[in-house]
Amino acid sequence: MTTVGIIGGGLGGLAAACTLAARGHRVTLFEKNPWLGGKAAVLEEQGFRFDMGPTILTMPRVLERIFAEAGRNLSDYLTLVRLDPQWRCFYDDGTVLDLRDDPVRSREAIGALSPRDGQGFDDFMAVARRLASVSDRFFFWKSVEDLRDTMDLKANMSLATLSDVLSLRMHRTVAGQIKRNIADPRVRQMLEHFIQYVGSSPLGAPAVLCGIAQMQLGEGVWYPMGGTRAVPVALTRLAEELGVEFRPGVDVTRIHTEDGRAKAVVTSHGDRFAFDRIVSNMDSVRTYRELIGGSVWEAFQRGRKREAACSGVVLYLGLRKAYDHLAHHNFVFSRSPEEEFGAIYDQGEPAPDPTAYVAAPARTEPGVAPEGGEALYVLVHTPYLRDRHDWSRMLPAYRRTILDKLRRTAGMDDIEERIVVERTLTPQDIHDRYRVLNGAIYGLASHGRVLGAFKPGNRSRQVRGLYLAGGSAHPGPGMPMALMSGWIAADALHKDATANAPPVAAQ
Ligand SMILES: Cc1cc2nc3c(=O)[nH]c(=O)nc-3n(C[C@H](O)[C@H](O)[C@H](O)COP(=O)(O)OP(=O)(O)OC[C@H]3O[C@@H](n4cnc5c(N)ncnc54)[C@H](O)[C@@H]3O)c2cc1C
Repeated sequence: MTTVGIIGGGLGGLAAACTLAARGHRVTLFEKNPWLGGKAAVLEEQGFRFDMGPTILTMPRVLERIFAEAGRNLSDYLTLVRLDPQWRCFYDDGTVLDLRDDPVRSREAIGALSPRDGQGFDDFMAVARRLASVSDRFFFWKSVEDLRDTMDLKANMSLATLSDVLSLRMHRTVAGQIKRNIADPRVRQMLEHFIQYVGSSPLGAPAVLCGIAQMQLGEGVWYPMGGTRAVPVALTRLAEELGVEFRPGVDVTRIHTEDGRAKAVVTSHGDRFAFDRIVSNMDSVRTYRELIGGSVWEAFQRGRKREAACSGVVLYLGLRKAYDHLAHHNFVFSRSPEEEFGAIYDQGEPAPDPTAYVAAPARTEPGVAPEGGEALYVLVHTPYLRDRHDWSRMLPAYRRTILDKLRRTAGMDDIEERIVVERTLTPQDIHDRYRVLNGAIYGLASHGRVLGAFKPGNRSRQVRGLYLAGGSAHPGPGMPMALMSGWIAADALHKDATANAPPVAAQ
């Protein structure tokens, strides 16, 4: 039996813990916060309940696979409800467009708005399906760091492989692909927003990430009853059943290495715990920089330049009266995507007229708010933290910008009069609570036409016996990807541990 220490109890850490314990390893998980689940946290106040971080769950098959590792059914732990519409979109010109659960009905709605884009949407979805299938076969469920890991071109070069490589459209960005298929700026703006799931600009992200649209439109948007918080709760229950030892409130400050091999973790209290192998669910860049450092950090930096994905401001608003015209998930779009993405990703400043994502989960689970009320969650993406950003000073004015946007574009004229509870999360809060890179919500940015989708691999190339799990490691951010990342890290560790006799742990 291999002993494994996991640093961090986010979704990636929990998924790795469950998978490893299901495969017979002895797992201890350290989490600096008093709760498990990381960004999938919850806020409860005066009868309102808010998911604090993720709210849109896609690809539940990833969760199913993790529960199946232990011979369990996800449905015994979690009740998932499929949502329709998936998104309600509010535009600056007063247009309202629903993205439906069924691509045929989405096509109809898009065709009604812009007749020539009905066919364009079909064409775009055909590309998205192809790209999602290539990702499934070459990119998912295994540790990948660069193109070499995806396919062995020399050994397997065939017409089919060549056709898959060409389908990746390495010369094109997400925005470039959408522009080829879609004429109407409103439909383009909606489709460009899928890339916000990985906190990156459609103008810089590689076209292969258009596959995200298929992962949502083809597989649905799901709501776990009890909120997305129910996901880490279910994983924690499974991990406990499998014998994982949890150490919440314990901050790991060092990974001790010897001869290039991870040997132990050291906590802020100076305690040292030896393990055969270690999984870090802490941000991948900060793992190398702060937990290891020295020549390993220098070697990691010599690889690709890594840039943080975007951050965000969240307003948690308990309203005494619901807005009936909202769906469960809503996007209130900016007046200009060029201005918005230019501000966030090029100038590094909050957008003057942002897109606001608004969740109104009382549509699906009325118990999140007192009767007739609304537990409104408003997320606006912002640049990752720069030294010049002081959110304690910037928040009051930006809050006004966000509420003005909701008034102007989503018909929420009297929002201030309806608020009875108000809490906020700023980029600085995200940075401090979850110890991420520059306040990033979604790990590392996916910018670059060829290498944009690649993140640090799950099996460390720098330190033997070290594995990375979470949104800043392969395959990337978002609930399904962070969960898959945990599974991949566990699978790689398991393969290594069962291929060689486990090394003797340091005393
Ligand atoms: C506001 C917001 C909205 C989002 N919306 C969505 C959405 O709608 N849909 C979606 O799919 N995704 C969304 N995401 C992204 C999603 O939440 C993340 O990609 C995912 O939860 C990240 O999981 P993770 O495993 O990388 O770890 P994290 O959640 O970052 O957890 C890492 C954990 O490690 C702990 N830790 C770090 N360092 C140490 C250390 N040295 N010692 C001990 N513990 C340590 C941290 O405290 C933390 O608990 C959102 C995120 C945010 C913040």
